[in-house]
Amino acid sequence: MNPDRPITELLSSGRRLLSVEFFPPKNEEGGEQLLRTAEALRPYRPDFVSITYGAGGTTRERTFRYAKILRDDFGWLVMPHLTCVGSTRAELLDIVASYHADGIRNIMALRGDPPKGQTEFVPCPDGLRYASNLIALIRENFPDMCLGAGAYPEKHPEAASMEEDLDHLKIKADAGASFLTTQLFFDNEHYFKFLDACRARGITLPVLPGLLPALSLAQVRRFGPMCGSSLPRALVEQLQVVEDDARASEAVGVTWAYHQIHELLRHGAPGVHLYILNRSASAVTLARSLEREPS
Ligand SMILES: Cc1cc2nc3c(=O)[nH]c(=O)nc-3n(C[C@H](O)[C@H](O)[C@H](O)COP(=O)(O)OP(=O)(O)OC[C@H]3O[C@@H](n4cnc5c(N)ncnc54)[C@H](O)[C@@H]3O)c2cc1C
Repeated sequence: MNPDRPITELLSSGRRLLSVEFFPPKNEEGGEQLLRTAEALRPYRPDFVSITYGAGGTTRERTFRYAKILRDDFGWLVMPHLTCVGSTRAELLDIVASYHADGIRNIMALRGDPPKGQTEFVPCPDGLRYASNLIALIRENFPDMCLGAGAYPEKHPEAASMEEDLDHLKIKADAGASFLTTQLFFDNEHYFKFLDACRARGITLPVLPGLLPALSLAQVRRFGPMCGSSLPRALVEQLQVVEDDARASEAVGVTWAYHQIHELLRHGAPGVHLYILNRSASAVTLARSLEREPS
């Protein structure tokens, strides 16, 4: 099995990357939707696709299975996510070893959220406390793995301040992260300020902006606070006007994301990562708008 290209190689090519994020579906119907979405995106050739790891560490097999399908049947570079939740060090190393044996060389290494009902993250016995611990563990045992890490332009919700969060991000970078992907944000100013703050701290990694094409007012009101992402008044007002019309709401979300993407790229962002929630319509519209050159 030929090893995959590390995403860092793509990032250093100067090409503006398009990546999309899938989640591993729970049932057959969800599986079919994921495959339909992947099929719709096929002509736009995402540079890589990521596959999330379920809350509570529940999707180990499904993340692996869908990473293989997207890699083998679609020919895409895949980046499965992995979190520290619910696994010992030995189990985490086992998971990484299976990916490595399969030729996968890109992993998004995260801590994960505390399980539902808990406010504080408690590592499992012989488990890891922070994403930086996971990154260091993988880096030590699989030096050729390219490791993505999460970054929070509006600060991680648990961090006492942006300054503190940046200190922790520096530890993550120094532990061996290869690049950063941001939490979703709706106002590019957060990304630009965050990038400046990273550079001022000596965090020099590429920072891929993560965007959610909004589907509805209800969705952004749920996701925004959950992710610690603020909602610009203009976006809320536009979504309010079309609150009862699903199609019109989606069109507002796509248009908003379109303007975000093009401003980010004009100002030198290395590409864009779309949180597509396994849905194709807005992802296809946005991918088409990028008028991508053949790779
Ligand atoms: C791009 C992206 C993809 C994601 N994919 C998934 C997924 O697939 N599955 C999933 O369950 N979740 C996912 N998440 C959510 C993520 O798991 C949560 O945001 C989680 O709460 C933090 O994960 P992290 O890797 O950023 O943690 P960390 O980097 O470990 O940070 C967590 C908190 O601890 C603090 N901290 C870090 N290091 C230290 C230190 N040394 N000392 C003291 N405090 C410290 C940080 O400031 C922060 O507040 C994703 C997030 C992003 C941005």
